[in-house]
Amino acid sequence: MSELFDVIIIGGGPAGLTAAIYASRGYLKTLVIAGNPAGGQLTLTTDVDNYPGFPEGILGPELIEKFRKQAEKYEATFLDDNVVKVAEISGGFEVETDSGKKFQGKSLLVASGASAKWLNIESEQRLRGKGVSACATCDGFFFRNKNVVVVGGGDSAMEEATYLTKFANKVTILVRGSKEEMRASKIMQQRAFDDPKIEFLFNSQVQEVLGTESVTGLKILNNKTNEVTTLDDVQGLFVAIGHKPNTDYLKDLVELNELGYVKVTDNTKTSKKGIFVGGDVSDFRYRQAITAAGYGCMAAIDAGKYLAGHDH
Ligand code: NDP
Repeated sequence: MSELFDVIIIGGGPAGLTAAIYASRGYLKTLVIAGNPAGGQLTLTTDVDNYPGFPEGILGPELIEKFRKQAEKYEATFLDDNVVKVAEISGGFEVETDSGKKFQGKSLLVASGASAKWLNIESEQRLRGKGVSACATCDGFFFRNKNVVVVGGGDSAMEEATYLTKFANKVTILVRGSKEEMRASKIMQQRAFDDPKIEFLFNSQVQEVLGTESVTGLKILNNKTNEVTTLDDVQGLFVAIGHKPNTDYLKDLVELNELGYVKVTDNTKTSKKGIFVGGDVSDFRYRQAITAAGYGCMAAIDAGKYLAGHDH
């Protein structure tokens, strides 16, 4: 029989690791399946300035390492692997990983996060963290008095662009379709149209991000005329074309919303008794390390109550 844990935490980002600290410190036999590569979205960022407790700022990967060290101190077991399947069994759940390992848990805590969608062009990947970002709340501050470009025509792009006007001199939104086809809600579009710092380029796509150590400009393709132009004097590129929650392995067991995020029934409870949720895998609104960490803490407390029979 596969090894039995009180709680299996799926995810090694701020939500999963905070849940691990609380669960293992509460004497629950805890397994963390932390992903491969482990650590989640924070490992893809550089400076984190807004996580309380670090007045000098801290690098994303370093913050994750600290979370993990703290959880290991209380003897949570870690496995850097991805979950591919979860099944309900008598008395709990069985989890199967990418490498074919199986574990049983009396409860599950889903904290597998969401991944930002990228354009997937070589120059974008190379300059990630060096001027290319997928989170204005995280990185906007670094672009004071600079010129930035936001890619996307949905609500995320409108919101990111509007937020960035607090810092940037000028924000250009690149929309690959026409103005009429824009997906963003009318009210958020209007807010962006009315903002004197925001300019729109329609039917426009990034062909290349220019720069070696940092972003210096963009090559833009007009997909109607096939004309390629260069936007000089751009220091930042924010990709806001949506996120994908990491829930494929869960969809037959737990109710998801229309975008694939885990539906929460009551704080951190899901549609399946014994499965709790924390972080970006269900939160598409705040998406911050601090909110994910807090949410992971709540889920661990709820799982502990459930295991102790104090669930109501
Ligand atoms: P959406 O899926 O709504 O929009 C994605 C946008 O990115 C579209 O304009 C799409 O273009 C564009 N896009 C996708 N792939 C590419 C690509 N490779 N190159 C260029 N452009 C691309 O995602 P959002 O994250 O904006 O929103 C997700 C959900 O969250 C929505 O329901 C939204 O309403 C909600 N939300 C609400 C907010 C709020 O109310 N405050 C804030 C943020 C999000 P195309 O249309 O051509 O496919």
